[in-house]
Amino acid sequence: MKAYRASILWFASQSVGPARALFETDGLLVVGPNEAGTQVVQAVGAHGDIVGRYPGVPVEHLPGRIIAPGFVDLHIHYPQTNVIGSPAEGLLPWLDNYTFPEEKRFAQTDYSAQAASFFVSELLRNGVTTTLAFATSHTESVNALFAAAQAQRMRMITGLCLMDRHAPPDLLNRASADGRTDATEQSLLDTEALIQRWHGQDRLGYAITPRFAPTCTDAQLRGAGELAARYPDVWIQSHVAENKDEITWARSLFPQSRSYLATYADFGLMRKRAIYAHCIHFDDDDRALMRETGAAAAISPTSNLFLGNGFFYYAGADRVGFQYGLASDVGGGTSFSPFHTMLGAYYVGREGQTKQGLSLSPQQLWWQHTAGAAGALGLDGRDGQPSVGNLLPGCEADFVVLNPAATPLLARKTGLAANLDELLFAMIVIGDDRLVERTVISQAL
Ligand SMILES: [Zn+2]
Repeated sequence: MKAYRASILWFASQSVGPARALFETDGLLVVGPNEAGTQVVQAVGAHGDIVGRYPGVPVEHLPGRIIAPGFVDLHIHYPQTNVIGSPAEGLLPWLDNYTFPEEKRFAQTDYSAQAASFFVSELLRNGVTTTLAFATSHTESVNALFAAAQAQRMRMITGLCLMDRHAPPDLLNRASADGRTDATEQSLLDTEALIQRWHGQDRLGYAITPRFAPTCTDAQLRGAGELAARYPDVWIQSHVAENKDEITWARSLFPQSRSYLATYADFGLMRKRAIYAHCIHFDDDDRALMRETGAAAAISPTSNLFLGNGFFYYAGADRVGFQYGLASDVGGGTSFSPFHTMLGAYYVGREGQTKQGLSLSPQQLWWQHTAGAAGALGLDGRDGQPSVGNLLPGCEADFVVLNPAATPLLARKTGLAANLDELLFAMIVIGDDRLVERTVISQAL
């Protein structure tokens, strides 16, 4: 066992209502193994209340530092690490000139391995400890990312990108080498083999990953839905309702479905553990479908602002009541830093010209990128599942050590904070990777 003495931020259990942050200025976090040998939180609270219960446990004192839950990124493309910040006149030139040429390189094992290693390191450097990520349509890319995450014990969920039409040939799923199995069938066989190889190994999880409905045939979506039914504890990830041209296209390809979102439900791809990126252009029937199926939205604010696609409608989501959390969506997104993503979410919430605007509280923003996102993944301790994104007793001991005085301006501004909201908002608005002094990952004995 080991204890850390610092200021500590965590969240009240979700069952007691909306996001409520808890904070101890002189706190103690005690971590130690659970029955399975995984390092979890044993106790958290005021130093003076707890320290006497753990005689002999070494205490690392971190004066002036804040311990907070590791961040959870609900949607990011690891093959687009090199695509971040690429200039283009809109989505299609951006895809043609940067994204597609880069993704083709992931057919190479060596290229995938070095990219995966950098990607995992960059996430950890930014304080992200749980990630739901897209790979490419090459099995090499999936194996490389799982291997890189496993080496660092990062909680990583990813899967083979399903894409059997409407993309450059090098990026489509491939037929079997002997030509006996077509690309659609082979992509589903590969998905099942990857589930069996990786899902549940250490801290890895598999996500069935249709890129989005327009790049998948009916047969591929149907097969993906059958796999989702056969493996109920694997995740599902895709994109939906990001921009209006995409919606028009999806509606023309699947006219029998009530809406673009409903297409996924019609193929059995909406359930708990299904995470859909963007979810911008919804009506109330779509919102109700999210709620009723238990699917969750990966809100990707910096990407939506960068590509000019629209603004997630928080008031609508809360009125109907479906789950959501935050995502960087690199390379459409502009930063690996959860602080930039939280600030982007604040901008998106404020926008009041096309929808009702509101001011998301600092605690609510932080929750969306930690405990709220973990809840969207079903990783909040319900149903005997692991718990991440929080520091309540029993949670896996993934956390960040923040230095609120990391830059002169941060030191000046956080030093003026008169309450928790002012402290958190100063870090959200002017913070970045320099805040993150250390990222600690739950170890296994
Ligand atoms: Zn995306």
